[in-house]
Amino acid sequence: MAVSKEKAYYKAVRRAAAIANSDTALKDALNAIVRGIARAMKAGVSLMLLDSARKKLIHSTSWGLSQSYIRKGVLDADKSLAEVVTGEPVIITDVSQDSRVQYPEMATKAGIASMLGIPVLIGNEVVGSVRVYTREHSEFSNQDVNFVTTMANLTAVALHTSELRQIKASQQDRDQVETKTATLQQARAVTFAHPSEEEFAHLLDFYQIEWVYEPQSFTLNWEGDRVTEMFTPDFYLPGLNLYVELTTLKQSLVTEKNRKLRRLRQLYPEVNITLLYKRDFERLLAKYGCGPLAQLRGHGVSQVLYSSAEIQKRARELAEQISKDYAERHPLMVGVLRGVFCFMADLIRQMTIPVDVDFMAISYYGGKDSSVVKIVKDLDLSVAGRDVMMVEDIVDTGMTLNYILNHLKAKGPSSLAVCTLLDKPVRRLADIHLNYVGFKVPDKFVVGYGLDYREEYRNLPFIGVLEPEETKTKSELPPVAA
Ligand code: 5GP
Repeated sequence: MAVSKEKAYYKAVRRAAAIANSDTALKDALNAIVRGIARAMKAGVSLMLLDSARKKLIHSTSWGLSQSYIRKGVLDADKSLAEVVTGEPVIITDVSQDSRVQYPEMATKAGIASMLGIPVLIGNEVVGSVRVYTREHSEFSNQDVNFVTTMANLTAVALHTSELRQIKASQQDRDQVETKTATLQQARAVTFAHPSEEEFAHLLDFYQIEWVYEPQSFTLNWEGDRVTEMFTPDFYLPGLNLYVELTTLKQSLVTEKNRKLRRLRQLYPEVNITLLYKRDFERLLAKYGCGPLAQLRGHGVSQVLYSSAEIQKRARELAEQISKDYAERHPLMVGVLRGVFCFMADLIRQMTIPVDVDFMAISYYGGKDSSVVKIVKDLDLSVAGRDVMMVEDIVDTGMTLNYILNHLKAKGPSSLAVCTLLDKPVRRLADIHLNYVGFKVPDKFVVGYGLDYREEYRNLPFIGVLEPEETKTKSELPPVAA
């Protein structure tokens, strides 16, 4: 190895080791390590981390690569190079000829000739990959592979140190899985184009829904070889296999976005994408105390949707149906406090089979860099081997329920079903099967029969639509509040 290269490698390792073992914020540390590899090797470099399902490689940070190459799409862990599957380095000397490259045309277009993929391991567990991209064809020497392996190890040290810091910060009261997710969230070095996108990312973090910001640009129109129109959705949610485009612009401009979405669906029918309108998005934020609608004050119920008698009748029908379906069984009915308390009480009192009842309570943990859902009261009864029925007041985006179902699944119930009094399907983001539904409600904010607006209206005997009224005073609210 040439002396100057050896020197450059040594310098990069020394710096990376110092930064991995410092208090530097995780995303800055990862940026510095990746930049160090790129400079020493005079190549493009990216760091990708596995999502928690260990299926997708999510871009964390990169250096010396074009935006269009970075946005080529989310990589499948088993289709792209597969170093994260084998745990071994992968050398691709000619990207155009190698079947292990998932997007060979994009790589060739970006001027990439060869690639090196080195897994990032924390202990024996692969958590991601460092990839090096060269313009010239390269065989990558042993020294090159050893250098990148050392830098990948230092990346693992930085990730692990950050995880330990978080465990300490949360006084070890959260489980390791949640901490790991939070570390991955912090590892994404994202600059948002618009504050609303950052707020949306906070909200997804709140629910521990993994997201990737602008991962892919889709070509919508061409003239011969020339691309004349591209579309880059704001977010991709790997766990839900869903792209989300936020539209907080004037409603008149939404027409243009709708046109693009129609075109995208036509060209790429396999792509699952949803447009989140300004109003929906603001309501979603308001639920957690942020965004403009959070400043609005409910001034009354404008319409009764379901009278007390209608609710009682529907609860009885559901109770009868469940009793029939669960005949000879003894389900455990689980509610999430507090909105569900009226419905749970009415439902179980009309069931004709034996039941057990338990409740959970959730809030969120808001750290400096992350906010995640936290279970503040877990179940008192054991779930393992039981027939469990989640009882909900309302399912809106489905994100809360998605989180809780995952939590319960991990405890090994023999079956898991959902019964919700209200279903607001138009705003659904998480694809969840609802076994029993009381009423499908329109896209309105409803209160009463246990459901509140800032703790008010829970004791109304009916379910009504709340009309918010704009107040004059606007104050700063924290980014996410329960
Ligand atoms: P999701 O996770 O499905 O978006 O939200 C579910 C939770 O949001 C519900 O349990 C409920 O607390 C709250 N929520 C959603 N929509 C409404 C609504 O229209 N009225 C009230 N009061 N709460 C709602």
